[in-house]
Amino acid sequence: MGIKNDIKNSDIAKILHKIGFLVEIYESDHSNATFKARSYKRASDVIASLSSNIYEIYMKDGLDGLLQIPSVGKAIASKIEEFITTGKIHYFEKLKSKTSVNIDEFYNLEGIGISPKTIKVLHNNLGIKDLSELQNALLEGRLRNIPGFTRRKEETILKKIQLFKKGIGRYLLGDVYPLVKQIESRLSNIDGVTKAIAAGSFRRMKETIGDIDYIVSSDNPEKVMDYFVTMPEVEEILGKGQSKTFVRLNNGMDADLLVVPEESFGSALQYFTGSKEHGVAMRKIALAKHLHLNEWGVFDNYQNRIAGSTEEQVYQVLDLDWIPPEIRENAGEIELAIKGINGLPKLIQYDNLKGDLQVHSNSTDGTVSIEEMALTAKDKFGLEYIALTDHTKSLKLTKGLDEKQLLDQANRIEEINDKIRYGQEYTQQHIRNEQGSEASIQGNFRVLSAAEANIMKDGSLDISNNILDKLDLVGAAIHSSFTQPIEVQTERLVKAAQNPSVDIIFHPTGRLINKREGYCVNIGKLVEAAKDTDTVLEIDSYYDRLDLKDEYVRMAIQNNVRLVIDSDAHHPVHFAFLKFGIAQARRGWAEKSDVLNTLPVDTLLESLK
Ligand SMILES: [Zn+2]
Repeated sequence: MGIKNDIKNSDIAKILHKIGFLVEIYESDHSNATFKARSYKRASDVIASLSSNIYEIYMKDGLDGLLQIPSVGKAIASKIEEFITTGKIHYFEKLKSKTSVNIDEFYNLEGIGISPKTIKVLHNNLGIKDLSELQNALLEGRLRNIPGFTRRKEETILKKIQLFKKGIGRYLLGDVYPLVKQIESRLSNIDGVTKAIAAGSFRRMKETIGDIDYIVSSDNPEKVMDYFVTMPEVEEILGKGQSKTFVRLNNGMDADLLVVPEESFGSALQYFTGSKEHGVAMRKIALAKHLHLNEWGVFDNYQNRIAGSTEEQVYQVLDLDWIPPEIRENAGEIELAIKGINGLPKLIQYDNLKGDLQVHSNSTDGTVSIEEMALTAKDKFGLEYIALTDHTKSLKLTKGLDEKQLLDQANRIEEINDKIRYGQEYTQQHIRNEQGSEASIQGNFRVLSAAEANIMKDGSLDISNNILDKLDLVGAAIHSSFTQPIEVQTERLVKAAQNPSVDIIFHPTGRLINKREGYCVNIGKLVEAAKDTDTVLEIDSYYDRLDLKDEYVRMAIQNNVRLVIDSDAHHPVHFAFLKFGIAQARRGWAEKSDVLNTLPVDTLLESLK
């Protein structure tokens, strides 16, 4: 048996998802096809977010181990086994051979809401096999002749495809973050390596990442590069030089490695962190000082290196303060960094948040109980409070809460808060008795009663104010009727901001990166309304939202509008997304004082309108 030992959960998740996709296209005459397709997709989702490695589960416990995974039944478990042991799934190959449709292209389109059924109809009627054929048919207006398709639907699909294509080759920061960091730490641990940092747009924490540049300082480049090309994630070696190596990883992303001597580490890091515009402006400043700046250092006219080992040094010899990577865009930061001006913003720090004001539980579409969310927030992420913002009744898909359920939930939250208090005293006592030491459970924790109230088409909310006012805080958000004209959409949000019960507007523009442009909204008017009504705007940290985006963050701050940074967690691991929201805030020049959930809970509640 040729067992592949580098099989990752994501490989298995992908192939199961493709099977579900093909089942939906080609077995749709069977009565249980939809059910079957859905079970493949559900298993795929579970496996994609599983923290333990499936390959290891299988090696340890075999088929029985696989059957312990939620949503994995016998049929799917045996296909996973087949994939691990042979590298193939016969059933998948069989389904694939039935069609000339390019499954790899179309499977991706499902992520932007173009369903297998649509693709089947288009294949049967117009013979469309791949993305470019679909695009041509759309441009020629051929889809509107098919029943169920209109000119408007054509335009929507075309727009979605364009957006999707724009995103090809760009990876969402949150999708690649764990892997990039893992490789970074492995490189740091190689003997003789003094520093290893992932530079580029990753270090600037951009929303999407093209490729990765690792900068490593070592006097033994050969050793580092040998390790780099043999990493289990490497699919292909694209090039190898004396200090530089290029590889393609098995997720499709290119990764470059540059190994430099210690005296050049800072300049290389500065050079490869970018942005391009920031680098150009820096080199201009160097030239004006009769200096030369490149990845190897800052040099004077006699080729003497006068800086290079640290970034701070590089900025220093150009008479600049060190500039945080997130704002290196040549968008005014360089002028403010000139020595003596002290003009750079004191950006919010990654450990400044004390609470999280958008958290969901299994009362609606979250995955675990309020208690479990609270416990994780406190113990694993060091937060002092969370607001439980389950969806409200008009969002039927999520089983949104009605008035009575909201009040019941608020009562339960009070009980939970009592329990937390009691539990802490108990634990503290316990630790003292056992160990006789002064160990104590740190601080208090509080769950706030709240809601993510749904903004209706006319800007009203689906829950009355007298109920909302009984909660600790209220966020409001749009989840439907995305295609209203800009005036209507803006008015909806302005009206929500004017509602005296609404404290925060959640994910204000509704975008999903690479999937959906936000709804059309006059952001200037929303910012103005937020300012006039003392309403807070949210930066949603969920990494496909990052909504507000950086330029709107900056606009909000310039207008003295207050912000919060929330995880929008639907699962305990999602609290880890907060760092992406903080990065977004930093890229929008936000300081700690601009962000309300850096405050302790009592002060926060006093500051809300
Ligand atoms: Zn929402």
